[in-house]
Amino acid sequence: MRLWPPKAAAAAICLTACVEAQDWAALREAMVRNQIQRRGVRNESLLNILRDIPRHEFVPDALRRSAYEDRPLPIGHGQTISQPYIVASMTELLGPRRDDKVLEIGTGSGYQTAVLARLSARVYTIEIVEPLAREAATRLRNMGYTNIVPRAGDGYEGWPEEAPFDRIILTAAPPELPAALVKQLKPGGRLVAPIGREWQELVVVDKDRGGEVSQRSEYPVMFVPMVPKNK
Ligand code: SAH
Repeated sequence: MRLWPPKAAAAAICLTACVEAQDWAALREAMVRNQIQRRGVRNESLLNILRDIPRHEFVPDALRRSAYEDRPLPIGHGQTISQPYIVASMTELLGPRRDDKVLEIGTGSGYQTAVLARLSARVYTIEIVEPLAREAATRLRNMGYTNIVPRAGDGYEGWPEEAPFDRIILTAAPPELPAALVKQLKPGGRLVAPIGREWQELVVVDKDRGGEVSQRSEYPVMFVPMVPKNK
């Protein structure tokens, strides 16, 4: 078995001690192994990015110690940062490529945004809660990301001025697939979204070269609802 980084060997057994020591790299390694690889995510460049991004800097100070736990966490304004495995799994399903233009609806903390920015050419991201949009934009800028274009606003209409997109991801759940977003998907493109009300499923939508759209459900999920249009 390959151990990377070297500290990883200890990661699985050091959880409590690592939290005490604020050994974030070891906690990340444990997160990747125990929560993400174990559940079947295999994409190596994605795994390495998750080993690298400081998730604890995306959560409120009081919750830093919990940043690498196997669950979503509150980020204020009734919103949450998604569980690490869900971020990994959705990113793997989305499959962003190096030259891709990506649209994200629901910036939240900006953690998923950072992951996408490391795998693609440019990420356009929309957040409806203004203070969250501002905080995430500042955080991502301070971390040195130069290929993220943030906007505060309603994601239902997408970003027509910048469309079409190779990849579109939603991190809040609309009751049904928003037609405007499917329209903004390039032929050959893919959209990943949680869809539904009380019962939600993670849905993968593909638009083929001829513009034909097909969709399939992956697994049940629980996301915050997407705030309705014009609310
Ligand atoms: N990817 C984020 C998840 C945030 S939760 C993270 O990991 O931190 C989903 C986010 O979608 C919330 O911040 C919520 O405010 C936002 N949201 C809900 N409805 C929206 C809409 N109509 N347009 C844009 N963002 C929306």
